[in-house]
Amino acid sequence: MTQHTRVCVIGGGVVGASVLYHLTKLGWSDVLLVERSELTSGSTWHAAGGFHTLNGDTNMAALQGYTIRLYRELEALTGLSCGLHHVGGITLADNADRFDMLLAERAKHRYMGLETEIVTPDEIRQLAPIVNTDGILGALYDPLDGHLDPSGTTHAYAKAARMGGATIQTHTMVTATTQRPDGSWDIETDKGPIHAEHIVNAGGLWAREVGAMAGLSLPLHPMEHQYIVTDEIAEIYERDTEHPHVMDPAGESYLRQEGRGLCIGFYEQPCRPWAVDGTPWSFGHELLPDDFDKIEDSIAFAYRRFPVLERAGVKSVIHGPFTFAPDGNPLVGPIPGLRNYWSACGVMAGFSQGGGVGLMLAQWMTTGETERDPAAMDVARYGDWATPGYTLPKVIENYQTRFSVAYPNEELPAARPHRTTPMYDIFAGLGAVFGQQYGLEVPNYFATGDEPTYETPSFRRSDAFAATAREVAAVRDGVGINEVHNFGKYRVTGPGARDWLDRIMAGRIPLPGRLALNPMLAPSGRIMGDFTVSCLDETTFHLTASYGAQAMHMRWFDSFAEPGIRVENISDRLTGFQIAGPRAREVLAAATRETVTDMRFMDVRRVIVGMTDCVVQRVSYTGDLGFEIFCDPMGQRQLWQALMEAGAGHGLTPFGMRAMMSLRLDKGFGSWGSEYSPDYTAAETGLDRFIAWQKPTDFVGRNAAETERLAPPARSLAVFAVDSPDADVHGYEPVWIDGRVQGFCTSGGYAHHSKTSVALALIPRSLDQSGLEVEIEILGAMRRARRLDGPLFDPKGTRMRG
Ligand SMILES: Cc1cc2nc3c(=O)[nH]c(=O)nc-3n(C[C@H](O)[C@H](O)[C@H](O)COP(=O)(O)OP(=O)(O)OC[C@H]3O[C@@H](n4cnc5c(N)ncnc54)[C@H](O)[C@@H]3O)c2cc1C
Repeated sequence: MTQHTRVCVIGGGVVGASVLYHLTKLGWSDVLLVERSELTSGSTWHAAGGFHTLNGDTNMAALQGYTIRLYRELEALTGLSCGLHHVGGITLADNADRFDMLLAERAKHRYMGLETEIVTPDEIRQLAPIVNTDGILGALYDPLDGHLDPSGTTHAYAKAARMGGATIQTHTMVTATTQRPDGSWDIETDKGPIHAEHIVNAGGLWAREVGAMAGLSLPLHPMEHQYIVTDEIAEIYERDTEHPHVMDPAGESYLRQEGRGLCIGFYEQPCRPWAVDGTPWSFGHELLPDDFDKIEDSIAFAYRRFPVLERAGVKSVIHGPFTFAPDGNPLVGPIPGLRNYWSACGVMAGFSQGGGVGLMLAQWMTTGETERDPAAMDVARYGDWATPGYTLPKVIENYQTRFSVAYPNEELPAARPHRTTPMYDIFAGLGAVFGQQYGLEVPNYFATGDEPTYETPSFRRSDAFAATAREVAAVRDGVGINEVHNFGKYRVTGPGARDWLDRIMAGRIPLPGRLALNPMLAPSGRIMGDFTVSCLDETTFHLTASYGAQAMHMRWFDSFAEPGIRVENISDRLTGFQIAGPRAREVLAAATRETVTDMRFMDVRRVIVGMTDCVVQRVSYTGDLGFEIFCDPMGQRQLWQALMEAGAGHGLTPFGMRAMMSLRLDKGFGSWGSEYSPDYTAAETGLDRFIAWQKPTDFVGRNAAETERLAPPARSLAVFAVDSPDADVHGYEPVWIDGRVQGFCTSGGYAHHSKTSVALALIPRSLDQSGLEVEIEILGAMRRARRLDGPLFDPKGTRMRG
């Protein structure tokens, strides 16, 4: 007989159990978890059980904080012990960059309400006396760090879920998943069929195999990982209190007390991927053979940092596999293009992140939205391009750099170049220094002369500064050219296209030949996208937005699918260039026989440029006179040729993303993922100025937006000029007003044209007034900043619109 359930969670590791619990917590009780063996039968049972809040992504750090705080709640609810040891932890810094990173993290924690602190070498010795602090500059202390019992914790989640009405069926192996036409799922198991409205893939070590049952290729890979438990150590068992955790990034190790001894694990450089061609179903409660050769160098380093280890015998070695996504963050959320199939896998730190993953996924499933921007863990941050061939080297790189300093301007080298446009070799010949966005190679800047062809990662102004300044000047003083391949692009067609867009977008849908900026809102009013909508004719619209958000945006569009409306992702089928700067019009005019000098700001039309059939829009994110010129990739090189010839007499200069992001700062323009994201609403960020209040349509998010219109939200986005000699804002730096942290930065950088360090920040609306002076904490230093009353460049918009 077929068993029916609303949700079938596949996998009873810590993540599956957490998802199940959170579903019941949010009110879905008809939920079932199936586990092929006992609970914890994947990576979970052999985890070291450590947890910590530190994470370069602020939303991930917040979810880690949530996870850790949840354990006491779980214990109280279930009466089961999670075996909690809240011993605190320190992360050491042995060089200036690593110390900068910790200072930046500490600063972020201030407004996240996390009580971390920077400690000196003396304080480190008091807190963690077994540390040899030679060469250590300081550390970040986090009182929330600790460890737990992996099995006890998973069972606590499971009991809490059962108490909420969930069913758990162990020794039930899923062998096939097949979708019915109505979107629900038939799940075959060795104990009989199950019919479920939704599937959650929490298959952990087997998530790839479980995904393949539904035709999915999930970008994750298992890696081997080893930690050692020592015999008794007098310096440990003679202490009155438990020794805190010590993360030693230089030694790529994490260490904690285990009973009367220590436990130390390594992220070693000679690491090894596991089960490259698939996790065997026969793998169960066994460990991998000990491998001391692999961690020989790491052990030698650990002996110097923790001399007590040298005298300690080895009690046991745990060597097991666990999975990573290419960037090390979980893969969570609805799978784009597949109804009612949810991912909860690739969780490499189940005891730091499992609670947050469960909460986010359960919110997503039960309400359609998450309370925080899920971008860092959204499974849609990868597309079909994230093949197993790409994933494997990226996962290895991620493992090896797990403890490396993560710089804001860093471009990691593995699996590159992967995706390139027809311009790649031309740009490379011009000295392009590439970055990567959503798998695509994108010029960051063009190095000339003896400028560096590799941008040294840094928290401060980088060695791409001079090249960026030169490109910015080329745009503002003449005209620059930049590829538009890294825009997300969509074509919406059909007789009802206008009405559909009118409902999906909060702004005005333009008339034929015109374009309009459009926020796309969730029902809660949060920002799901900031689009340029162009009307080519009454039934054909082009949309452009962030390239990295394309799978996420297509998933959103799909959720509003209507018969007769066709939405195509043409991001890689349409490419081209933007030309921007005071001479842009002359260049375009010289490249075509058609009249373009009459194009008004926000006009769009078809134009043959050179030999290439193009769609030209008069708009530019640089805030200057500019045109975006889109074409078929097959014609792109010819278009380049035509524009370069036309631009020769005007000094047409290629520019990259570093210059682009600097140019937008002159105007205080926000950017996707920083100011514009599901973390914020239109009214908070100023995007409400593009909402078409007068349109009669009940567009998605209208109620929430109207509510904020009547009662404006407590915070608003302000732009600041920062008095900082060598380092700029990147995001999440705290804003101090009247001696208290009252806001935080969303993004910033150096505006080369205005020669000003600029910060965009969310601050209390009541204080967002002319003349406001604040302090912004950048790398531990308080920097004075002055609120700007308008754009630094072209405040009246005459250049952009003229
Ligand atoms: C040596 C080591 C040390 C670690 N230390 C830490 C640490 O200190 N802190 C930390 O946070 N993390 C640590 N981890 C990582 C941690 O173990 C993982 O993040 C976590 O266990 C992942 O849990 P999961 O539920 O996603 O997957 P898993 O634990 O792999 O669970 C997946 C479950 O799905 C079941 N399943 C799979 N396929 C099917 C199917 N077809 N039908 C039914 N059931 C199925 C499996 O049997 C399994 O029980 C460590 C990992 C290792 C290897």
